Amino acid sequence: MSGLGRKMIIDGEVEKIDEEAHYDFDLFVIGAGSGGVRASRFSAQYGAKVAICELPFHPISSEVIGGVGGTCVIRGCVPKKILVYGASFGPELEDARNYGWEIGERVDFNWKKLLHKKTEEIVRLNGIYKRLLSNAGVKLFEGEGRVVGPNEVELTQLDGAKISYSAKHILIATGSRAQRPAIPGQELAITSDEALSLEELPKRVVVLGAGYIAVEFASIWRGMGAAVDLCFRKELPLRGFDDEMRAVVARNLEGRGVNLHPQTNLTQLVKTDDGIKVVTDHGEELIADAVLFATGRAPNTKRLNLEAVGVELDKTRAIKVDEYSRTNIPSIWAIGDVTNRMNLTPVALMEGTCFAKTVFGEQPTKPDYIHVPCATFCIPPLSVVGLSEEQAIEQVNGEILVFTSTFNPMKNTISGRQEKTVMKLLVHAETDKVLGASMCGPDAPEIMQGIAIALKCGATKAQFDSTVGIHPSAAEEFVTMRTPTRRVTGAVKPKTNL
Ligand code: NDP
Repeated sequence: MSGLGRKMIIDGEVEKIDEEAHYDFDLFVIGAGSGGVRASRFSAQYGAKVAICELPFHPISSEVIGGVGGTCVIRGCVPKKILVYGASFGPELEDARNYGWEIGERVDFNWKKLLHKKTEEIVRLNGIYKRLLSNAGVKLFEGEGRVVGPNEVELTQLDGAKISYSAKHILIATGSRAQRPAIPGQELAITSDEALSLEELPKRVVVLGAGYIAVEFASIWRGMGAAVDLCFRKELPLRGFDDEMRAVVARNLEGRGVNLHPQTNLTQLVKTDDGIKVVTDHGEELIADAVLFATGRAPNTKRLNLEAVGVELDKTRAIKVDEYSRTNIPSIWAIGDVTNRMNLTPVALMEGTCFAKTVFGEQPTKPDYIHVPCATFCIPPLSVVGLSEEQAIEQVNGEILVFTSTFNPMKNTISGRQEKTVMKLLVHAETDKVLGASMCGPDAPEIMQGIAIALKCGATKAQFDSTVGIHPSAAEEFVTMRTPTRRVTGAVKPKTNL
């Protein structure tokens, strides 16, 4: 039995917690993904008695169930990045020829070997995450949890037996799952869950969508030698990113042989002897061995019994939370994709950390969504931090200086690869503050992490300019962009605190 005898003070108000009640746990977390594991470990480090539940996963099945580590580790960022590394070697080998490497005409790629290595790594990481939990003293239950009261979680164990636990606080961190548009024949398509574990490498692929997952998988399969058709509704991929950088990504994908079908919807998928026939709304017919729907993800709230307990959901069925990740039921909290705030692993980690500090660390802390950098691991990758040019025009008052640099990376001068790296900085003319940075080119995410620290510190363009470059590197371009390419004017009314 437990019950931390602490008061929580949030925004100056002392929370009245039932000091007398005793619970099985101080905290019961449903979902052991990035956010859930972080929140439970940190809460335990503050002295809380913590339990977490998660279903086990089957490493070589594409069936979508659980796994300690969650989407990021089991069927998201990590396996995806392994495949990106795998796919990158193909073009790298081509580039190596002019560097003197004698590579025969035929280079073979063994998909099954990579798949096996990837699975081994995921199993290893799953074990590490389990150890992290047990080392922190967190009790892991293998099973599915649902909320049956403000302080009660019902756990369905693997043998089907149900058992209830009481907890002073319940944290929901169940993530999201891929959603599919209702196109006739949609059952023939796969999502990223299956794409990461296909038994055979497809030779012809159609990808629907143009978000992170779509452009990443288009790059992966193209790098591995498949013919790839990328169909999407907008004129450019990656809605929400800077338009100029979206055009760079489109150019690079095309340059590497991905067939782009902008302003295209799919109307039907039909199974044929030759593969899956994909019909577009332009009347085109494409034949594919695999069709990937990368059309967004939906919060995982269906089986949690939340409506019965009175937890409010929004119209996307995401859990509504306040700035501290608390739901309308004071003892129930939620973090990560299930809240549909900013669906990125490091953001779920931040929310988990803030939750633990707020609830058990006596330091109420709100997650800070300003200057969150991100990357899409297409090949080459795009990485950004801060505002896009379109956002800056909409949100910032006054003149904005746009600095751009388009250059041939040094490596390409010898390899002969025709692909420019593009960088962009947006600077507020009046204050000299750097509002946003973008880069599309090799190592962009590695470079952008450092730029993100500068922006977080409120760096000015003068400070960028006074920073000595690392030579020869692509990154040094960020400190040598002297003359603005153009000036644009932001909205009259300021919306952003600079
Ligand atoms: P995104 O929300 O990024 O993109 C969804 C794409 O699907 C858009 O191009 C959208 O088109 C299109 N789409 C949606 N519905 C339909 C439809 N009915 N018909 C045709 N196209 C449709 O989703 P993803 O699936 O790529 O990624 C899911 C989440 O995972 C994202 O929130 C992202 O944050 C996260 N993620 C992050 C990664 C990273 O950090 N590197 C990697 C992978 C995923 P339109 O633009 O026209 O609406």
